[in-house]
Amino acid sequence: MNARANTEREIVEEHIKVEQKRRRCLMCGEMFDSFGPGNRICKKCKSKQAWRSGA
Ligand SMILES: [Zn+2]
Repeated sequence: MNARANTEREIVEEHIKVEQKRRRCLMCGEMFDSFGPGNRICKKCKSKQAWRSGA
């Protein structure tokens, strides 16, 4: 059981390593740490967008 949990944990950690990449923000062009393939906008612009679309 323990060995199984360790293996799952290792896979998750490796997955996070792959998902976290430096990307250029589509909004301001600044480099930022992306958390996934769909994350193309930096935190700053994302919060700005949320504030805008938040009716
Ligand atoms: Zn930005």
